[in-house]
Amino acid sequence: MTATKTTPDPAVLSRRIKELAQERGAVILAHNYQRPEVQEAADFVGDSLELSRKAAVVEGRVIVFCGVLFMAETAAVLAPDKTVLLPDEGAGCPMSDMLTAEDLIDWKKQYPGRPVVLYVNTSAAAKAECDICCTSANADRVVNSLPEAEILFGPDKNLAAWIQRHTTKRIIPWDGYCHVHQGILPRDVRAARAKHPQAVVWAHPECRPEVLDLADRVLSTGGMVREAGTSAAAEVIVATECGMLYRLAKDHPEKKFFPAKETSLCPNMKKVTLPKIEIIRILKKEYPDPKPFLHFRTPLEILVATILSAQCTDKRVNMITPGLFQKYPDARAYAEVDPAELENEIRSTGFFRNKAKSIKGAARKILNDFSGEIPSTMEDLLTLPGVARKTANIVLSAAFHKAEGIAVDVHVGRVSQRLGLSAHKEPEKIERDLCRIVPRKHWGDFNFWGVSHGRAVCQARKPRCEACRLRALCPFPSA
Ligand code: SF4
Repeated sequence: MTATKTTPDPAVLSRRIKELAQERGAVILAHNYQRPEVQEAADFVGDSLELSRKAAVVEGRVIVFCGVLFMAETAAVLAPDKTVLLPDEGAGCPMSDMLTAEDLIDWKKQYPGRPVVLYVNTSAAAKAECDICCTSANADRVVNSLPEAEILFGPDKNLAAWIQRHTTKRIIPWDGYCHVHQGILPRDVRAARAKHPQAVVWAHPECRPEVLDLADRVLSTGGMVREAGTSAAAEVIVATECGMLYRLAKDHPEKKFFPAKETSLCPNMKKVTLPKIEIIRILKKEYPDPKPFLHFRTPLEILVATILSAQCTDKRVNMITPGLFQKYPDARAYAEVDPAELENEIRSTGFFRNKAKSIKGAARKILNDFSGEIPSTMEDLLTLPGVARKTANIVLSAAFHKAEGIAVDVHVGRVSQRLGLSAHKEPEKIERDLCRIVPRKHWGDFNFWGVSHGRAVCQARKPRCEACRLRALCPFPSA
């Protein structure tokens, strides 16, 4: 199979996402550093504080916050009556992680009596330990508003150094930084200037002091948006995360904006992607009416059928289970049957010795520890011999209508990897990735969608990409 990339049409995706949000009464807020298509899908685009304030006043009851974790936390604090969703729970902020609440408690002990000013890029737990919070736009004013002569400032040492230039107070910095801004070097700015000699340079105060020395203006992202509206400059080199350029160019098509460094991209901010959301929508439409592939009437029957389905087709399992279930109606019957007899009954499903051992072991455990009833939690199911997360997820979903995870079998794993929903090989890691993307109410359905698509279209050896409805969104369709 030859791997070629196709690019989904961002305009179509953005439109579809907007429709979905409207249908569900959700408001989408996106940070200035988000991907262009995410910015296009958003109702509001801005910096972290603007968006948090917006979260407090917008009408929707559900806020989809396309940013990183600390931003969604801040929005949730300012809008306690709303549900704030972060599309990718893995979208953290390394700078925020550099100063935890525990770090801050220890730091304060080293400098008793000094107030703590924290940059908004910190966790809610750390913020709870500070005296006052600031943004990059008002950091100097916040510091100067305090009566004390010495101030602890974290987590960004570069912003601390910038404030030090604007105050007579002594700033004691925490040694944190934003890896994206720290990665912009003076030589990058000089090279951009050489390439665009007419351009002025705007730099974000999270940049190194040596970079700020080369800038014509030092501005927060909100400040850049405002400056673009008033500045006479026709060409601007921008030293910050490159997502900002999309917003500036969109607002001011008459001006030219260039990155100080083209690779200044925050991987966490780019975790929010529209194709993943669209893939789930198409799977749902393509494979409606999800139902278990295995025939069963009781929790015990789906447990046994799932154990038998390992390395075997569902069709074959469904052929033998009616007779099997009639002969062994409860856990005691399986626990007491002679192993050789059970092996003989299930021989045609393959690996019959191991499967018989698992079924008998599970049945004994169910009798001894669960009064003969199939347990209905993930934790208890995993104590049964021969039951791993895939089986437990199928039992929980099919028999108890519970969503504690997503059952990842060979089809779901393959389809998820090809579609870029997970880069992992291990089922548990794939499940973890899927649970971040798939809405919880569809966790049970996703196994049906993945298996159906894997069997009908995205087959192991020869995927039928030419007939695949997901082709435009798939990172690895065959040529
Ligand atoms: S069949 Fe569809 S999902 Fe599978 S690789 Fe081809 S285009 Fe991607």
